[in-house]
Amino acid sequence: MPDLPSPDENRALGQAILTIDLGALAENWRRLAGRAKGAECAAVVKADGYGLGIGPVARALLAAGCKTFFVAHVSEGVILRKLAPEAQIFVLNGLPPRSAKIFARAGLAPVLGSSPEIAEWADFCRRDGAPHPAAIHIDTGLNRLGLDPRDLARAREAMASFTPVLAMSHFVSAEDQSAPRNHLQIQRFFEACGQLPPMPASLCNSSGIFLEERPFLDLVRPGYALYGGNPTPGSENPMRRVVGLTATVLQVRDIPAGETAGYNGRWTAPSRRKLATINLGYADGFPRSGSIGEIGADVYAGGNYCPVVGRISMDLSIIDISEAGPLARGDRVEILGPHIGVDDLAAEAGTIGYEILTGLGKRYAREYRGEAAAAAAAIVGKA
Ligand SMILES: *Cc1c(COP(=O)(O)O)cnc(C)c1O
Repeated sequence: MPDLPSPDENRALGQAILTIDLGALAENWRRLAGRAKGAECAAVVKADGYGLGIGPVARALLAAGCKTFFVAHVSEGVILRKLAPEAQIFVLNGLPPRSAKIFARAGLAPVLGSSPEIAEWADFCRRDGAPHPAAIHIDTGLNRLGLDPRDLARAREAMASFTPVLAMSHFVSAEDQSAPRNHLQIQRFFEACGQLPPMPASLCNSSGIFLEERPFLDLVRPGYALYGGNPTPGSENPMRRVVGLTATVLQVRDIPAGETAGYNGRWTAPSRRKLATINLGYADGFPRSGSIGEIGADVYAGGNYCPVVGRISMDLSIIDISEAGPLARGDRVEILGPHIGVDDLAAEAGTIGYEILTGLGKRYAREYRGEAAAAAAAIVGKA
């Protein structure tokens, strides 16, 4: 098999390029740790590090000083364990039936969220003759995962057979500062913790770290904000930008008023227009829903914001460059970067930045940058 093209070759080939700034990622972790001072700052790296690559992401966070990680799946935990032999790793989705041995052998701590999970972990620990660690997930209103506080008294007995190392719960709408639910959940969590043996406690995701009540407790668990997403929607983003995505122009054409563009002719030129076709589509994570609304999502090209016209297709999109500076075949355009944040693209596509990040495509070139990039590259090479 021929070697993969180098970053320079990718550039020369006009490939779409995803850049990931690991220096900015590390800086974001330090900012969040500083804000939650007094609490330990962990990192949530589920879904392949929110789509940015769990290897380089974990390596950069480890170098920054992060010691505790959360993944969603046990398989993600097994991968992370290889990269981070010393780290504490929690598995948020809990304990699948008959999987306890895999957790224990990989040194992964399940986040136990139901009585059957607690019973199974306790039973395994008794038979294994070792009180392996686990976290206890309490549901305080999300009604998704976690113990009903009414079941705590019964669960407490089983906890004697293992080592409960963290009590946690998860906010319903921490990104909304004014939601009365935030305070209610904090109260419910405190009450629930009172029924558990004493252990460290954790409540905050990214947005929770910015709540005025500062419910940092012993450990905070940011994900999204690490990757540059805005944990305070509606206010200026306090985080540094991590992700950039550029594509290139394949063709430029002039069309008269009345012509349509794209599949099914869903857009009609209102006047003479200049269009550019770019080499990026929904298979690359440029969401098709960004071309369904009244005005398409913006691409930054030729010094201006240029809307997508017609439907985004699998490998291609069409943008209206009539108001932009001169653009020609091979020129680069910005999909994500200094002019368009992950949250901006998400808003235009009717979704959230989390979905944009985790939907980023697999086929374009990825370039890791920043101070930790070299170390991360070394790890990826070994993996
Ligand atoms: C995903 C997740 C987080 C991280 O949330 P962000 O909003 O990305 O910071 C924290 N805790 C739990 C339980 C999660 O599922």
